[in-house]
Amino acid sequence: MSRPTRAIIDLAALRHNYGVACALAAPGQAMAVVKADGYGHGIARVAQALAPDAPCYAVACLEEALAIRKAGLRQPILLLEGVHAEEDMAVCLEQSLEPVLHSDVQIRWMRGVTIPPVVWLKLNTGMNRLGFAPDELPGLMIRLKQLGVEVRGLMTHFACADDLSDPFTQTQTAVFQEAAADFPGLLLSAGNSAAHFRPDQPLFHWSRPGIMLYGATPMLEASGPELGLKPVMSLVSELISVRTLAPGMTVGYGATWRSEKPTPMGIVAIGYGDGYPRHAGTGTPAVVNGKRVRLIGRVSMDMLAVDLSSVPDARPGDPVELWGSQVGIDEVAASAGTIAYDLLTGVTQRVPREYVN
Ligand SMILES: *Cc1c(COP(=O)(O)O)cnc(C)c1O
Repeated sequence: MSRPTRAIIDLAALRHNYGVACALAAPGQAMAVVKADGYGHGIARVAQALAPDAPCYAVACLEEALAIRKAGLRQPILLLEGVHAEEDMAVCLEQSLEPVLHSDVQIRWMRGVTIPPVVWLKLNTGMNRLGFAPDELPGLMIRLKQLGVEVRGLMTHFACADDLSDPFTQTQTAVFQEAAADFPGLLLSAGNSAAHFRPDQPLFHWSRPGIMLYGATPMLEASGPELGLKPVMSLVSELISVRTLAPGMTVGYGATWRSEKPTPMGIVAIGYGDGYPRHAGTGTPAVVNGKRVRLIGRVSMDMLAVDLSSVPDARPGDPVELWGSQVGIDEVAASAGTIAYDLLTGVTQRVPREYVN
C-alpha cells in the first residue's frame, strides 16, 4: 500500500568496498568516513555494518559522532572539523571522540578544559580551506604540550587527487611529509578515496575513504565498477502511468520536450522532492524492466517521464531503477552536471531506506 519509491542499501556491497579500501591502504589502516548520514545511506546502519572490520570512523561534526555512539559503537571517531564550541571539548573526552584542530580558536578552547581530549592537527598543504601552515607546527606542538594536550596525529587533505594528470597531489604529499618529519611519534593521515587509486601515492598510517565505500567513483576518468567497487544504493520506483504521445505532444513543465513520432511514455513516482536531481535533462539513463530508457522533459517534484520506446510493453507497476547496479550513479551525476556525492547525500527523508544483506 505504500509508495514504491525506495533506496535499497546493500550492506554486503558496503563491506566489500571497505575491504577494497583496506587492501589499498595496507600496511596502513582505513578509517571509514560516514559523515553526512553515511553519504545518505543512514549513518547508524552503515557504521554498524562496518563495525566488525572498521577500527575507527570519521565524521564532520559532533552530532554525527553521537549518532554512532547511540548505535552502541565504541570505536574512536575523528571529528574532521573539530568542534564548534568550547564546551564540546568535554563531550569529546567523555565520548572518546578525537577532534581535528584546525584553528587558533580551537587551540585556545583547550585552556578552559580540565582534562583535554586526544586531538589531531590539520595541516594546510594547499587546499587552503582549513588548517595550520606547516611552519606553525613546531610552535603549536610546544603550546599544546604546555596545555597538557596529547596530539595523536597530523592530517591533511588533497585538492586534486581525483585527477591523475594533475601533479598537485605529489606537491601536497611532499609538503606534508616534510612537515611531519620532525615528529616521528605522530600518526599521519592524508588520503581521501581518490588517493587510494593513485599509483605510488603514500597513504600513511590512516587513509580516509568516503565515497568509495558507497561504490561511486572518486576519480574523474573511471566509474565505480571499473575501480572494483560495488554500488551500495539502488534508488528504485515504479511506473505509475503509461501513455503514447502523438507526434507534436510535449511532456511536463515548460513543455520542453516534444515528440516527433508516436512515443510510448511512462511516468515514474520519483522527483526532486526525493532528491532525484532536477538538472537531469532529457537523455539521462534509467532502467525499466531491466531495459535502458531515457528521461524526457523536466523532472518534477514527485514524478518524472521516461521514453519507453525500448520497452513498449511496459505497464504501470513495472519496476524502475534510477541508479544502482543497472544504471551507474556516476552516469546519472554526469547527466545532471554534478557528482555522485551530491546525489547520494541529497536523497531526502521522504525516501525510505531498506537494508539488505
Ligand atoms: C569527506 C572527507 C574525506 C572523504 O572523502 P571522499 O572523497 O569521500 O573519500 C576524507 N577526508 C576529509 C577531511 C573529508 O572531509
